[in-house]
Amino acid sequence: MDRTATGEDVGRVVAAAERLGLKAHPIPGAQRTAIGITGNKGTVGPAAFENLPGVLEVIRVSHPYKLVSREFHPEDTIVPIGGVLVGGRRVVVMAGPCAVESLEQTVTIAKAVKDLGAHLLRGGAYKPRTSPYSFQGLGEEGLRILAEAREATGLPVVTEVLDTSTLDLVARYADCLQVGARNMQNFELLKRAGRSGKPVLLKRGMSATLEEFLLAAEYVLAEGNPHVVLCERGVRTFNDFTRNTLDLAIVPAVERLSHLPIFVDPSHGTGRRDKVLPMSLASVAAGADGLAVEVHHRPAEALSDGPQALTPELFGQLMEKARPVAEAVGRTL
Ligand code: PEP
Ligand code: MN
Repeated sequence: MDRTATGEDVGRVVAAAERLGLKAHPIPGAQRTAIGITGNKGTVGPAAFENLPGVLEVIRVSHPYKLVSREFHPEDTIVPIGGVLVGGRRVVVMAGPCAVESLEQTVTIAKAVKDLGAHLLRGGAYKPRTSPYSFQGLGEEGLRILAEAREATGLPVVTEVLDTSTLDLVARYADCLQVGARNMQNFELLKRAGRSGKPVLLKRGMSATLEEFLLAAEYVLAEGNPHVVLCERGVRTFNDFTRNTLDLAIVPAVERLSHLPIFVDPSHGTGRRDKVLPMSLASVAAGADGLAVEVHHRPAEALSDGPQALTPELFGQLMEKARPVAEAVGRTL
């Protein structure tokens, strides 16, 4: 409680806790009174008390997650993806098409982004599409194409795994398994990814809270796999001028609570080509450990997410502009 808090203020906090089914234990000190609150199964957050008169600060002592928490593991985790280190001083850029469409398309894009400075290649062989009539991806042929693109460029490959039945197959080709927003709480998939021996790029569910996001990562770590990269990709809100609302404030929030690195995906986060560059710069400024950017050499012909794909030329501009921003926040790119 604040130093100036009255007995009445303390009583109000105690009553609020009791109304929520919790126990309050006032601890009077020389300067101020602290109130310990127990019996919280994790469902009541600090907001229940923060705005009551006389409250100075609400400190959460325990979290429902452990392995992902900074409390448990203070040093930043570095995740190696095919030799590329994620979570260190360098901001890592993963770029490529939304979907693998053909060998020619994927290799063309992979070479272009490699030349422009990308560190990792992305591309979906299995696509989670809203409509069953949309292009669903090339499946195993897409994985083979990604392996060829890796061969041609040296870029490690990040690709999505949609379900447990294809996980072993995807893991044979990929350097990193992407678990998409729609699968963030597919707990069986998370457990299997945790036993795969591959690093995991875990995208935030489109209506997931920070705690749910971290608990999803906890599933992977709990299976003995410490190599998780989180990825903010926008959440669903009432806003109708972008595809999703990119929640950049989650970057410093994650940095504070967890030792895991976090990427930002401004492509799915905005859904609009012209918003990708400014939000990439903002992501780097906010402390993101990496960017996930969709690039297509012929966006108008892309089989998925053409409206948000950058051309290689625009991707080059992004890389150029992001470099001084990274340097301004003490990183390299
Ligand atoms: C993707 O990155 O290819 C993708 C499908 O993204 P999300 O899961 O964030 O929608
Ligand atoms: Mn996409």
